[in-house]
Amino acid sequence: MNIDIITIFPEMFDGPFSESIIKRAVQKNLVNINIHNLRDYTTDKHHKVDDYPFGGGAGMVMMIEPIDRCISHLKSKREYDEVIFLSPDGQLLNQGISNAMSLKNNLIMLCGHYKGIDERIREHLVTMEISIGDYVLSGGELAAAVLTDSIVRLLPGVLGDETSALSDSFQDGLVSPPVYTRPRVYNDWEVPEVLLSGNDKLIREWRIQQATERTRKRRPGLFDQHQQDSLGEQ
Ligand code: SAH
Repeated sequence: MNIDIITIFPEMFDGPFSESIIKRAVQKNLVNINIHNLRDYTTDKHHKVDDYPFGGGAGMVMMIEPIDRCISHLKSKREYDEVIFLSPDGQLLNQGISNAMSLKNNLIMLCGHYKGIDERIREHLVTMEISIGDYVLSGGELAAAVLTDSIVRLLPGVLGDETSALSDSFQDGLVSPPVYTRPRVYNDWEVPEVLLSGNDKLIREWRIQQATERTRKRRPGLFDQHQQDSLGEQ
């Protein structure tokens, strides 16, 4: 898979992509992540990427031309499944979207700044818009890093069996059950007896029961959806 990220702050990705699971995935060639500095696609000597908004008002707007030049350059090299713009008014990111994106071959992620990007880019060049939550960030970089992380960990071979993504929250429509490790007792805080029983069937049932109960309490919307889906399957 290729992920091409367009940004005016390329160095913001140094941290998140140079550690842990993403780093390993890149080293194993399971994903190529290319960061493109939008200023390299400007034609003026000041490398200008933004301008005042038509109609007035606060904040600058990112201009069409550098973004179009960058996207055209990328498209001349390969065919992209999606050109994703990270935006607070986009589709809310969830595990289903990350699962679907992990099956794609080539993705572009475009990071906005300032007041946002000229609307015509969204109309003509962007094919998908994703938000990571109902709050406003100063730029799309952290959102692109979140989206990339959630996709890359799903690629075959990235996670070992012991950390399999299939047992994570949301994959089966429920949040994860609680987990424990040694010691068995700390102060007087104990590990639930069933987990020490060695009885796989009981442990499996306990985990499902805990996951269901947690989802009902913490994510009522998700729980209702899960109930409907289970009824549909019967
Ligand atoms: N004026 C815009 C906010 C611009 S914030 C508005 O009110 O909608 C600047 C940039 O940060 C956006 O263009 C987008 O790329 C990014 N961004 C901000 N919040 C985000 C979020 N919740 N999810 C994804 N991207 C976000």
